[in-house]
Amino acid sequence: MRAHVGRPRALLVVAPHPDDEAIAAHALITRLARRGTRVAILVVSDGAASHPGSRTWPRDRLVHERRRETRRAMRRLGVAAGAVTFLDLPDGRLAERAASVRRGVRRAARALPAPLLALAPSDDDAHPDHRVVAAAACRAPGVRWWRYPVWPAGQRLRGARSLPLSAQERLAKRHAIRGYRTQAGRITDDPTGFAMTRGQIAAFSRPRELFAAATTS
Ligand SMILES: [Zn+2]
Repeated sequence: MRAHVGRPRALLVVAPHPDDEAIAAHALITRLARRGTRVAILVVSDGAASHPGSRTWPRDRLVHERRRETRRAMRRLGVAAGAVTFLDLPDGRLAERAASVRRGVRRAARALPAPLLALAPSDDDAHPDHRVVAAAACRAPGVRWWRYPVWPAGQRLRGARSLPLSAQERLAKRHAIRGYRTQAGRITDDPTGFAMTRGQIAAFSRPRELFAAATTS
């Protein structure tokens, strides 16, 4: 079944890490931004955990570059830097900061006009940080929450509706995901570091974006 986006006045994309916003909703952001809907991105963690052993990419450089990657990808969709907020909580350890995550998400949602469409990760995402962010999506008047799948890459979401992508949107999305270069193989001096595989990038740029209406507490 197709996702019914409707006519929200604003879209909030809550991303656990700097790149999840593109993986989750590149095409949806593109469409709504083009339509003039106000779009805000909330990146919850600092993204510092992807390459802890790199000598050429110490923590500060990595965090700085990951922010830049998100800002650049969003700017290309018409989302200005001022609409992208970084909570800077510790990547990989969001469970220890669940209250701050909740507070940050609530504040971001309150700052936007209703009706608001807000996106959060799926409750059963394989990444613990994603589940912490999922739990922070709380019911509020005028806010409609949708869940999106990330991990494992290519995951199908129970009860999800789909937003089919045109060939052009799909290409743009794949290009954007590869543009998060620190996550796509740019950093080579940390054998334990993270790099999206070609298969993961392909799965993330599949021909549809999936969203499930959220149950929230
Ligand atoms: Zn993530």
